[in-house]
Amino acid sequence: KADAETLQRVYGISFPDPKQLKEWEKIQEEAAKRDHRKLGKEQELFFFHELSPGSCFFQPKGAHIYNTLMGFIRSEYRKRGFQEVISPNIYNAKLWQTSGHWQHYAENMFSFESEKETFALKPMNCPGHCLMFDHRNRSWRELPLRMADFGVLHRNELSGALTGLTRVRRFQQDDAHIFCMPDQIRQEITGCLDFLRHVYTIFGFTFNLVLSTRPEKYLGEIEVWNEAEKALADSLDKFGEPWKENPGDGAFYGPKIDITIMDALKRNHQCATIQLDFQLPIRFNLNYVDDNGEKKRPVIIHRAVLGSVERMIAILTENYAGKWPFWLSPRQVMVVPVGPAYDDYADTVRQRLHEAGFMVEADLDAGDTMNKK
Ligand SMILES: [Zn+2]
Repeated sequence: KADAETLQRVYGISFPDPKQLKEWEKIQEEAAKRDHRKLGKEQELFFFHELSPGSCFFQPKGAHIYNTLMGFIRSEYRKRGFQEVISPNIYNAKLWQTSGHWQHYAENMFSFESEKETFALKPMNCPGHCLMFDHRNRSWRELPLRMADFGVLHRNELSGALTGLTRVRRFQQDDAHIFCMPDQIRQEITGCLDFLRHVYTIFGFTFNLVLSTRPEKYLGEIEVWNEAEKALADSLDKFGEPWKENPGDGAFYGPKIDITIMDALKRNHQCATIQLDFQLPIRFNLNYVDDNGEKKRPVIIHRAVLGSVERMIAILTENYAGKWPFWLSPRQVMVVPVGPAYDDYADTVRQRLHEAGFMVEADLDAGDTMNKK
């Protein structure tokens, strides 16, 4: 209750061995040095303003990192058979009633009236993608249909819960929904796992995989659940990385694979998810025509690798301690002339590197010597 008397939360932590305490203190110190809010300010990447709590302003250098991350995922989409779409931000409440968000998620959504109808900003892309799938008749030949969307999402987090880029109200995801036939689940899950390993290896993250299975309260037929869980387990086995099972921790609408990455300070973050969904296709009455000419229900796989791009930037900033790998760096080249007589030439070099596509600056400040620069 927000209006109740404030409670004090007390955390305790014990160290059986003094060495462990030392280690922990070192990591705390290192974490404070790497805090993305601190580095974001120092490197002029982004800031927040009280006039839009929880929505980040990305300055040019931060926007460069943001766009480079999305460009990287886009180039993978091309290789991996995903097609990018662009979908609306504002939908009539009727859509959210159909999807079930209105009943279960309304308090986390920003909604408003217009022309006597209620509308809301989307907190996720899936319902809009269901409308796109349902836009015309679909044949089994089109499946799997992999629909990707970097759409802007809004969730109404309490202003007291907002912290830097890790908890925000406005964000984008490398979101995609795969509409497929039940017997394509294995192949698609394998594809999703391969995708995330590729991306996380480039970032230098290790990861843990957990399969969450049917909870006590579930919707749908038990045979469908069993078959899907088997498909997920088979895909995980085939993938070759160790994985664990978390029985009963799946969503009511389908089993899922949770992926936790470990950063340079050995801290865990959950970013990627691979989530099967049997319910949304029912709620939106989605069909495809199979090879016998019969109407069948597709399965939806929700998946993201970066998760929220905002949050991933926070994690990467702290993981790299602000020392960006060259491909992501907003400061790739600094041209330093040996003396003021060469300023023009330095600027020509800067211009040529700029035209070649690099993030480049020339330091022509006459007040500093070359050595100092
Ligand atoms: Zn989704």
